[in-house]
Amino acid sequence: HDRMQLEVMRGCRRRCRFCQAGVVYRPNRERSVEKLISLVKRLYENTGYDEVSLISLSSGDHSRIMQIISSLKDVFKDKGISISLPSLRAEDLVTRFPLEITTGRRTTLTFAPEVGSEKMRKIINKDISLKALKECAYQAFKNGWRRIKLYFMIGLPQEDHSDLDAIVNLAKEISDVKIKIDGRSAKINASVSVFVPKPHTQFERAAMLPIEEIKKRQRYIREKSIGSKVKFSFHDARMCYIEAVLSRGNRRSCACIYNAWKMGCKFDGWSDHFNYDVWMTAFKEAGVEPDYYASREHGLEEVLPWEFIEVK
Ligand code: SF4
Repeated sequence: HDRMQLEVMRGCRRRCRFCQAGVVYRPNRERSVEKLISLVKRLYENTGYDEVSLISLSSGDHSRIMQIISSLKDVFKDKGISISLPSLRAEDLVTRFPLEITTGRRTTLTFAPEVGSEKMRKIINKDISLKALKECAYQAFKNGWRRIKLYFMIGLPQEDHSDLDAIVNLAKEISDVKIKIDGRSAKINASVSVFVPKPHTQFERAAMLPIEEIKKRQRYIREKSIGSKVKFSFHDARMCYIEAVLSRGNRRSCACIYNAWKMGCKFDGWSDHFNYDVWMTAFKEAGVEPDYYASREHGLEEVLPWEFIEVK
């Protein structure tokens, strides 16, 4: 990105049960206001950029974020520098921060409720009020934001069809809050990822759903949203499956990755480069049964391959 990037803190105080970043970047460490201001001054002198982006997993959680912003505004008041906080939680963006400093153009606002039902919200421990989200969406549309993008995740432990319905309903309700403002629903893009159990998280032993079941749930959501202004897009279930196998792998995974690379796998995160069948061959040649790593609940008695890594 063509701008100054400054990490305001490392770690995240929240405890979403699926989130690996929230665990591996502990403890939460904040940079002081003084340090940040001096770094921004140096960056400005050395680069001449006219935008500074304050980054972290959740910048709004910095205990002195308001002071950082007002100090930056003071320091750069005659220089036309804009300040952006890309990782702000949507609620903070709408309720706590003056809109003009968070971004110059109010185009797309991002919300990450992850789930649609209160039951699932509690299961993943996501600290977000689904009711407040709708109010935020209303305020955002009223303040000139044109589009909202939503991030959801399916396949989480204990999810059932009512939770999928809740995802579709929440997205539709957010779309419909704009009716109160100008009589029309808003176009909403909703991206739906797949739960992949990750080491060191509270869900590290959970099973990932089989690929066919994930596809079935994706189809269900797509069909339920027909006729609305919500456009759902989905992560590739097969790519997520490979991610799960490698995430929970052990030393035998090395041979799989090496085999796959020898067979031409590169840049697999890009769908046009991803070849599921080659990965399956690579697992087979390494004598690895991928379901053993991805689709199986790991019992409490089982020693996990990553247990020797201290992250807590
Ligand atoms: S999902 Fe976001 S808010 Fe939740 S723990 Fe991870 S980084 Fe923090």
